[in-house]
Amino acid sequence: MSTEKAINILLVDDRKEDLLSMQVILANSNYAFHKAASGREALRLLLKERDFAIILMDVEMPQLNGYETTALIRESEQLKHIPIIFLTANNDKPNHIFEGYQVGAVDYMIKPVLPEILRAKVAVFAELYKKTKELQIQKDELELRTEELIRSNRELEKFAYVASHDMQEPLRTIISYIELIEKKLIQVPANEGEEMDEDLQKYMNFVVDAGYRMRELISGLLEYSQVDRDIKPQGPINCENVLNEVVENLKYSIEDNKATIQYDSLPQINANYMRMVQLFQNLISNSIKFKRDIPPIINISCRKKENNYLFSIEDNGIGINPEYGEKIFELFKRLHPVGEYIGAGIGLAICKKIVERYNGKIWVESTPGKGSTFYFTIPKE
Ligand code: ADP
Repeated sequence: MSTEKAINILLVDDRKEDLLSMQVILANSNYAFHKAASGREALRLLLKERDFAIILMDVEMPQLNGYETTALIRESEQLKHIPIIFLTANNDKPNHIFEGYQVGAVDYMIKPVLPEILRAKVAVFAELYKKTKELQIQKDELELRTEELIRSNRELEKFAYVASHDMQEPLRTIISYIELIEKKLIQVPANEGEEMDEDLQKYMNFVVDAGYRMRELISGLLEYSQVDRDIKPQGPINCENVLNEVVENLKYSIEDNKATIQYDSLPQINANYMRMVQLFQNLISNSIKFKRDIPPIINISCRKKENNYLFSIEDNGIGINPEYGEKIFELFKRLHPVGEYIGAGIGLAICKKIVERYNGKIWVESTPGKGSTFYFTIPKE
C-alpha cells in the first residue's frame, strides 16, 4: 500500500551554501530535494510540482521574503496545506516569530540550525506526509469499491424488478390455460364413462402446483426488489399503531392458530410506516407459521439503548438450528421441504433489507424445539 516514491522536500534560501548545508544535514535516500534560490523561484517550482511533504523557507531574502512567499503559497487551494518551517538568523526580533505563525507556518528555527533537531523535525513531517498519503489511497480505494458496490447492487435490483415484473404476465397466461385444460379434461374424459387418466391427473397437479409456486417466488422477488422504493423515513411513527395494523392483517391466521400476540408500550421511531408493517408482519407471521403443536405465544418488546432501539419478537415455536441462524436471512433460503410449510423463503430477506436500509441489524437467537427470538435494531437518529 505504501508509495515507494521519494518524499519531496523544498528548500528555499538565497544563499547557496545554506541550501547545500541543509541538503547535507538532511541527506536521506527517501528524500528528493528541490532547491529554490528565491521566493519567486520557489513559487515557479510549486507551479510544476505540488506534492511536497514540507518546505524549509529562509525568511530573509531579497525581493520576496519568506513571509511574503508563504502568504502567496497559502492563497493556493492545492498548496496551502504544505507544512512550512521558517529558518532565520534574526533572533533579535521576537515579533518575527509571531509574524511567521500568522501566515501559517508550522514551525520556526533559528540559524545556524542544530542538525539533529532539523533532521528530527523534518522526519516528523515526512512521516506525517507518508501516513496521510497512505490514508488517502485507502480512502480512495474504499470510495471506489463502495461506488462499484452501490452500482452493481442497483443494477441487480433493477434486473430483479424487470425480470420478475415481466415474468408475471406470461406466467399468468400459463396458469390460466392450465386451469382451463384441467377443467376440460375433467369435463370431457377420453372415453365416455371413464375417469380422467390417473397419471394425467397427477401430471396436471404437478404442473399447476409448480405454476403456483413460481407465481409465489416471482411475486416475492418483485416485493424484495421494491423495498427501496418506499423506504424513506416519514418522521416519527408510532410502533404500537404498526403492531395494531399487523394484528388486524393477520386476524384470521391468529384466530385459526389460537395465537396470542402480546406487546407492551412501544416507542416512536423514525422510519417508513409501510415498511415497518411489512417487517413486523413477516416476523410475526413466521412465528405463527413455525409453531409447535401448542398455541403460539408471541411477545414483542423494545428496549431503549444508547444509540438505538432494540426490538425483540419472541415465540414458542419449533426453533431454528443455530447453524442456520444467519443463512435464513438469505434470499430463497428455507429449512423445510416445500410441502411442509408454505413460503418462498423471501420474508426474512426482506426484513434484513429493510432493517439494513435504516442502518440497523437483525439476528436470531433460538433453542430448537423451544422457540426463537428475532432481534433487530433501529438507530434513534
Ligand atoms: P418463508 O417463511 O417463506 O419460508 P422466510 O425468509 O420468512 O421464508 O424464512 C426462512 C426460513 O427461516 C423459514 O423457511 C424457516 O425455516 C425459518 N424460520 C423463519 N422464522 C422462523 C421462526 N419464527 N421459527 C422457526 N423457523 C423460522
